[in-house]
Amino acid sequence: MTAAPAALHDRALHLLQTIWGYPAFRGVQGEIVQQVAEGGNALVLMPTGGGKSLCYQLPSLLRPGTGIVVSPLIALMKDQVDTLRQNGVRAAFLNSTLLPHEAREVEDALLRGDLDLLYVAPERLLMPRTLDLLERAPVALFAIDEAHCVSQWGHDFRPEYQQLSVLAERFPELPRVALTATADERTRADIKSVLRLEDAPQFVSSFDRPNIQYRVGLKDSPKTQLLHFIREEHPGDAGIVYCLSRKSVEETAKWLQAQGIDALAYHAGLSSTERNNVQERFLNEEGVIVCATVAFGMGIDKPNVRFVAHLDLPKSMEGYYQETGRAGRDGLPSTAWMVYGLSDVVNVRRMLAQSDAPEEVKRVEASKLDALLTYCEAATCRRQVLLHYFGEELSEPCGNCDVCLNPPRVRDLTREAQMALSATIRTGNRFGAAHLTDVLLGRETDKVLAQGHHQLPTFGVGKEHDEKLWRSVLRQLVSLGYLSADDHFGLRATGKSRGILKEGQKLLLREDTLLPGLEHHHHHH
Ligand code: ADP
Ligand code: MG
Repeated sequence: MTAAPAALHDRALHLLQTIWGYPAFRGVQGEIVQQVAEGGNALVLMPTGGGKSLCYQLPSLLRPGTGIVVSPLIALMKDQVDTLRQNGVRAAFLNSTLLPHEAREVEDALLRGDLDLLYVAPERLLMPRTLDLLERAPVALFAIDEAHCVSQWGHDFRPEYQQLSVLAERFPELPRVALTATADERTRADIKSVLRLEDAPQFVSSFDRPNIQYRVGLKDSPKTQLLHFIREEHPGDAGIVYCLSRKSVEETAKWLQAQGIDALAYHAGLSSTERNNVQERFLNEEGVIVCATVAFGMGIDKPNVRFVAHLDLPKSMEGYYQETGRAGRDGLPSTAWMVYGLSDVVNVRRMLAQSDAPEEVKRVEASKLDALLTYCEAATCRRQVLLHYFGEELSEPCGNCDVCLNPPRVRDLTREAQMALSATIRTGNRFGAAHLTDVLLGRETDKVLAQGHHQLPTFGVGKEHDEKLWRSVLRQLVSLGYLSADDHFGLRATGKSRGILKEGQKLLLREDTLLPGLEHHHHHH
């Protein structure tokens, strides 16, 4: 109708090309920029690496005044601001790392209207002094990055984020754009209600990363499996190997180095100089592999990471998606590779049961873990399971995950599950998987004899199968919540197991397969 929208679009595109050097918007970016630049609110759901920053940076340049960016990632603010400044954007940040006189300089620049963008930590923003300052300053918009932090259902709840409702109350006339990569229904509802975005348009871009091949396999001899994977599929490629503990990070890196692989260790126990060195080498050299705890990766934007490997289970699907999402940002074929086994499953369940977090937090974490373990045990297309978790349906199996490439056989293992549950219960709900396997296989070990378990009716009922099958059945029973683990790794039948023992519920379990390109090394425990 009027020429204004087109003119706005042209200005946006011009800035995109001259300041950022990108030829075009990606997906829904252009629509979001238009919406916010025109003064509207928006809720943006876009996967990690999707390009959320532009969705508030560009409108901040298009509108008069300063765009205020709320972000919990204080450690990244300086880098983000430096990058923007290099592009000629007048950016600054306000957080606890600034000295008082530095903070005052930033505040003065804001009041003078000399800033395009100002990054603020949430606790800083919420201080009465800052809110008063913002009322006197020319503000273009509020961007709430990592908006899932408002929600207890998010994997990263920050109580101060809930107080951001103050923005809608004190600055109702200014646009608010909330951005996150966590899209499940409950989180989305919390974001909308806290940030008063009930009526705001939602911009959802697909979470699918078709160039990433998802693979999950049985952990057998993890380091050797990893080495084979690297040598056979990614020789000389850059990659990230995630481990749970600092110790296993160090060990894995050392071991890979000894095999002639250019691997480095990264974890929070290293000095910041050491960590910077690792980051620099990873970013600037070709083919460096970083073994790291989850401390590594946030804000690291290396396009040609060819694989992300997990030697330990992530905490949630969100964590898994975020970590694997660091592979293949350039769109070229990449691999998300993970191995896990019975003891990992028992261990994560046990850690959760032991944590002294409040009950409701534990319940959330338990359901997140359930979702992840269901993904691990999936006998259907992994991408379908993954995308379904993020509220998206993929109509056809993807053809680019281990399940599609090498379909596991699914068997009715109800009888075996009953045997395993009954062995667990008959031995008093306190023994670990190794002992239960001995009982099922009818092995007269010292422990079996000492406990008198050779006299139980379940002793030896599982002789027709081998140890591998029993470990697999027990693992799946723990993964799927029929067994829980105590602090001493003892297993206990849960209320859910009644369905299988008494109510004729069938249990279809997958036969463990090894991944294509992986060899099976036998280990005796
Ligand atoms: P997110 O915050 O969603 O994780 P970022 O905003 O950090 O993602 O962007 C991820 C990467 O995508 C960055 O390297 C960024 O430069 C790049 N990018 C974003 N938008 C575009 C675009 N329109 N064209 C090309 N690259 C883009
Ligand atoms: Mg971001």
